[in-house]
Amino acid sequence: MSISLEDVYAELTAPGERFEVATEPVRGAPTRVYRNAPPQLRELLERSRRHGEVPYLVYEDERWSFDHTRRHVAGLAHVLRDRYGVGHGDRVAIAVRNYPEWVVAFWATVSIGAISVPLNGWWQGEELEYGLTDSGSTVLVADDQRLDRLGDRLGPLGLAGRTIAVRSELDLAGVDHYGDLVDPHGDLPDADVDPDDDATIFYTSGTTGFPKGVVGTHRNMTTNLWNLLISAGARQRMGRAAGAAPPDDGDRPDQNAILLTVPLFHATGCHSVMVPSMFTGQKVVMMYRWDAGRALELIERERITAFTGVPTMVKEIIEHDDFASRDTSSLRSVGAGGAPTPPGLVARIAELFPRANPGNGYGLTETSSISTMNGGDDYVRHPDSVGKPVPVVELRVVDDAGDDVQPGSPGELWIKGPNVVRGYWGKPEATAESFVDGGWFRSGDIARIDEEGFVYLVDRAKDIVIRGGENISTVEVEAAIHDHDDVMEVAVFGAPHDRLGEEVAAAVLPKPGRTLTPEAITGHLAGHLAAFKIPSRIWIVEQQLPRNAAGKIVKRDLREQLLGD
Ligand code: AMP
Repeated sequence: MSISLEDVYAELTAPGERFEVATEPVRGAPTRVYRNAPPQLRELLERSRRHGEVPYLVYEDERWSFDHTRRHVAGLAHVLRDRYGVGHGDRVAIAVRNYPEWVVAFWATVSIGAISVPLNGWWQGEELEYGLTDSGSTVLVADDQRLDRLGDRLGPLGLAGRTIAVRSELDLAGVDHYGDLVDPHGDLPDADVDPDDDATIFYTSGTTGFPKGVVGTHRNMTTNLWNLLISAGARQRMGRAAGAAPPDDGDRPDQNAILLTVPLFHATGCHSVMVPSMFTGQKVVMMYRWDAGRALELIERERITAFTGVPTMVKEIIEHDDFASRDTSSLRSVGAGGAPTPPGLVARIAELFPRANPGNGYGLTETSSISTMNGGDDYVRHPDSVGKPVPVVELRVVDDAGDDVQPGSPGELWIKGPNVVRGYWGKPEATAESFVDGGWFRSGDIARIDEEGFVYLVDRAKDIVIRGGENISTVEVEAAIHDHDDVMEVAVFGAPHDRLGEEVAAAVLPKPGRTLTPEAITGHLAGHLAAFKIPSRIWIVEQQLPRNAAGKIVKRDLREQLLGD
């Protein structure tokens, strides 16, 4: 007998249930919230005592148990508070690759009511400086690569003597070493943290030139945890009701294990992998950098049960030469999200991982990771849908005037719920533009919802490129190209790319009498922009770019001219 997702959600969220939904005031507005979700992040740390000495973080040959990690978190929390005077609401930035210390820095900051500011690890010096200044961070935790890129900026940023280096081989003035400061033996310092206190500032590239700091609260994050748990629980229940055989657990160790394929400075890695694992006792296997061959090796070695990545990564895994020879039978879920999934991928996942549940989560940094989820049979039947909203999330599809469109028609997707953040750090105008009408967030994605409630993303209203899951503001790249003396006009747009989904493309018109080459442009950008933002296809054009009556460059026409699509 099959049973609908809506029915299962209704059962699981009923009064008295673990996932009970009730209406409570959040910052003054009545909001449908999970009544029993942990009130704040610190509680997840406290509750992790029950996981004791089992591994939480695996990095190369290191295994950090839950207890070991929590002791480091407590040690660093004391350092932040006692040595640097970090208090409630102060910002502590992280510029560290996916090392265990990233995780420690995050938990230590949020556990004392301060705000964690993860910076994009690919950013160059100027971009890192922007993030540090914009957030007003008063302490920086950094590794050598990023310290090197920051160069002599620490002094002017007020961070000399307030920077902690991790895994550092450098001896820099004004930089303390993690190992010299942190005593991993005590308990967390006391702190009073409210569910609606700010916890994080994650940078996201939108339609404006500079990345915006998305301010998330403790409730935003713990709501995402509950959203993930209820959608996984619902899938299991639906599978059982449909008579699916229980997973063959014969060869499976007790502990679930997830491969961390994506950076921790984005919502998927932090909100949907690292944070939930602290609660559920799942092992997080970290990678020095993404590499499909290495991922396959780790899936086999660590008996990985959950794989979550951008669609590109799933594709790379199944097309890798080692795929057939590696044992991937431990996988119980293979999920992709954060960017459009190529057609046919879901069927391939179902075929190649018969014991794993395929999944797709849709969301944004502003929705603290997931808003809708597709999975199991629903996903195989509707492979081009991002699924249905999780229980506390409400959706609207609206036209340019902000009115609901006819059911089934496309329009901008608006999202509301306790996982929706309160706005952008220090940017009241951008906040007012995106967060409207009592808590609705305008996603900038164009979607339609079918009669069964499945959501389909059909286009993007916002001018961004998503390259392998990494959002890029075209405005920012255009501004950087404009800085070149010989440039008259420029337009940056996404060109289809087989592996990455999209790549960054640019059309550049030189000033009269000047000559330009693609190499001159990329050479100019290197060092100013992170490598992932630098266009991999550049056309030097001889005529003005196509414009509309208002004089705005029409990128759709330009793409058609240059790419023929
Ligand atoms: P970010 O804030 O970096 O997480 O990027 C959010 C954007 O990524 C969304 O506005 C979508 O355009 C895109 N996106 C996120 N999840 C999906 C998905 N499952 N399928 C297609 N696009 C997605």
